[in-house]
Amino acid sequence: MEKDFRQLPGVDKVLYHERITRLAGRYPHDLLVSVIRQQLESERLSVAAGKPCASLDDIVASVLNELEALGRPTLMRVVNASGVILHTNLGRAPLSQEALATMKAVSEGYSNLEFKLESGVRGSRHVHVEGLLCRLTGAEAALVVNNNAAAVLLGLTALARRKEVIVSRGQAVEIGGGFRIPDVMRQSGAKLVEVGTTNCTYARDFEEAITGRTVALMRVHSSNFQLVGFTSEVTLEELIEIGKKNNILVLDDLGSGCFLDTTVYGLAPEPMVQQSVRAGAALTFFSGDKLVGGPQAGIIVGAKEYVDKLRRHPLARAVRIDKTRLAGLAVTLLHYLKEEAATKIPVWRMIAAPIKDIERRAALWEKALGGMAKVVPGETMVGGGSLPGGSLPTSLVAISGSGKNSAQAIGRKLRLGDVPVIGRIDKDVLLLDPRTVLPEEDEIVINSLRETIR
Ligand SMILES: *Cc1c(COP(=O)(O)O)cnc(C)c1O
Repeated sequence: MEKDFRQLPGVDKVLYHERITRLAGRYPHDLLVSVIRQQLESERLSVAAGKPCASLDDIVASVLNELEALGRPTLMRVVNASGVILHTNLGRAPLSQEALATMKAVSEGYSNLEFKLESGVRGSRHVHVEGLLCRLTGAEAALVVNNNAAAVLLGLTALARRKEVIVSRGQAVEIGGGFRIPDVMRQSGAKLVEVGTTNCTYARDFEEAITGRTVALMRVHSSNFQLVGFTSEVTLEELIEIGKKNNILVLDDLGSGCFLDTTVYGLAPEPMVQQSVRAGAALTFFSGDKLVGGPQAGIIVGAKEYVDKLRRHPLARAVRIDKTRLAGLAVTLLHYLKEEAATKIPVWRMIAAPIKDIERRAALWEKALGGMAKVVPGETMVGGGSLPGGSLPTSLVAISGSGKNSAQAIGRKLRLGDVPVIGRIDKDVLLLDPRTVLPEEDEIVINSLRETIR
């Protein structure tokens, strides 16, 4: 087929199109020209690929679309009706109102981030959370960095570089997003010594692997998968026994980390930070934005001697946490201290929500869909590298759709609304879970649903 590049308009032709000149004052000239060039280039490529050239009006329309999109941030609020509470792709934990208010306050003005108000001299940013973490976990010292991956990397780099760290083969895992324990080890300069087999590791496997170069035994919580059947792992308490006998540290990567007993809410037990500290782990690592329910952070608690080593390591500066998240984390930790986590911290409000309330809200959502949906029982996942296989009962709004209004099409419409609502598709049915949506967001969902079927 003949490729007709002559049909392609020049930059000026688009620039002086009346729909564009009308906007002239709204956008800087250079930005207009660069967006037009970009659109013309992509049109040229499409003609080169044998497609017919778009009309001038269509090119102008795509330039206008692009300009409009440029004016809006691409990262925005969405409503998570997916049924996964800690959804990494949707930003993990939503924050409490109090945490948000403090984050705003310290960001819109200056703050006493590293400044002692009493004496007027320089202070440390870590004091704002260290005391709270020690009180909550019983640890001697604490340090907070960018995220848990950075926390583990910092810990291994500062303590185990050029030395050996023993990990059970069943725990040398990939957490997701490419975070693999063996890779992090390599990056830190520590030598990973894997012991045991995929399904079974015993205390003697650790004992036999200890050499003069061994500095630590490490436990990694298998937070995103379950090993079932004939399995055996060494408990943290046993590891600590072995560590004590051989004068070797025990490091504990808990992944999610949790301050509350999940079994109270009908969930499987998730290891708690307090238990790890009480058992005597030298350092315990966990995330701020998984079951803790705060902003992204990597939290390290443990013996002062080792926390201090990490604090002084040059890498600590490279992975340090910013003031906004530090402020949000401090308020989140305070919720636990005041024993108000289950009513204030959104992920715990979701976990604790009584099924009766969820059923009532599902019925309201269903009504907004005017007979297109039905309410069915289902399960909410906790997700986010915590409680694999653990789920909570819920009530789902199920939309089967048909023809032009297929479940996929409705799901897409909901995603592209003013406030995107994210559901999940299961066997060609769109499912919306009220448990992962805060009651304050119901109005947004109901409006979106009405809009969608209109
Ligand atoms: C999630 C997880 C990490 C990584 O934590 P981030 O805060 O996402 O960096 C590390 N280890 C384990 C066991 C995890 O579950």
